[in-house]
Amino acid sequence: MHFCPHTACDYRGWLGMNNLRANGHPNGGPWRQFYCTSCHGFFPEHHGTIFRGKQVAVELIVRVLACLAEGLGIRATARVFEVAPNTVLHWLVEAAEQLTAFTSYFLCEVHVQQLQLDELYAVLSAVKDGEISEEEAILCLSRSPHWVWTAIDPQSKLLLAIAVGPRTRAMAQRFVHQVVQVLAPGCVPLFLTDGFKEYMTALLTHLGHWVHPARRQAKGPMPKPRWMPLPELLYAQVIKTTRRRHLVRVSHRVVFGTLEAVQQVLAACGWQINTAFVERLNLTIRQHVAAIGRRVSTLCKGEDGLRQQLALYHSYYNFCVLHGSVRQPLPQPVPTNGTGSAKQWRPCTPAMAAGLTDHVWSLKEVLLYRVPPWPQPQTV
Ligand SMILES: [Zn+2]
Repeated sequence: MHFCPHTACDYRGWLGMNNLRANGHPNGGPWRQFYCTSCHGFFPEHHGTIFRGKQVAVELIVRVLACLAEGLGIRATARVFEVAPNTVLHWLVEAAEQLTAFTSYFLCEVHVQQLQLDELYAVLSAVKDGEISEEEAILCLSRSPHWVWTAIDPQSKLLLAIAVGPRTRAMAQRFVHQVVQVLAPGCVPLFLTDGFKEYMTALLTHLGHWVHPARRQAKGPMPKPRWMPLPELLYAQVIKTTRRRHLVRVSHRVVFGTLEAVQQVLAACGWQINTAFVERLNLTIRQHVAAIGRRVSTLCKGEDGLRQQLALYHSYYNFCVLHGSVRQPLPQPVPTNGTGSAKQWRPCTPAMAAGLTDHVWSLKEVLLYRVPPWPQPQTV
């Protein structure tokens, strides 16, 4: 999975062109070297990754980043590994750039049947957990309100997009734009959101088309064309009423499409718009976003660090974390050691469940992946 990085090379940026030869480990170092038979250039296997030019052990950097991905704050991570907080931040910033490229390389042309969009009030949840004081939270909020916006496919648990920003129409537009760009052309899933009203406009903007109404009378001017939702667009809002953190009522409102059509999509996975369904989905999301919520509180002084932690979390969650509720059948059942029945399933990551990759990635593997500068004819 390597490509020649030399700008003057005809094979630059292309995978699988058979132009590379492994050339051993120069000076007995940890990294292999490659030789390009086309341009006669050399490059090390960690070219363009965050490990280039670092004297620190790879394992340390990987573990520091894994700790951040698991939800520990920058300062706490720095204490655990006895590294300066600025060093941790520096590694995070570099890794985020690499991971953003990784995610956009693999997370494209996604096919999903459903999407659940959610915004979570991260700072307030941190207050509830007693991690920061209310005064601190108010200070953070007055600087920049932190909502974590997520879009998850409830079937594969794939996190299509994650962003942080205020709960405004502009942010809803920006977020839906981000989501739609990841979808395969022509893919119009069923959208489920909470009662936040700005989603309607954002979805209509991105998944609409011009409709030319038929003329009512034989004469007179043609009626003006109207921007209407795509006929296949289904959108339902699920409004939960909670009292003292207990769910008391769930109501729903179909905004685009019909209730029958919405129910048909949900029935395909044995779901309904009902209490159980909503709770189940939100639980999944909240469990995973809880970690982000904690990090928001530690990072509310600099929003940049937060965005980078989200980029880290985004690729880590989709590609590295096995998800209990998504699994794939094994081609052949694997016998177990004891008396139990043979293993029929293997757990998988959301990216595997969504068909974006065929294996569980380690964070080190993700960080070492040299993202090609453009899409390749066939990718694994
Ligand atoms: Zn070359």
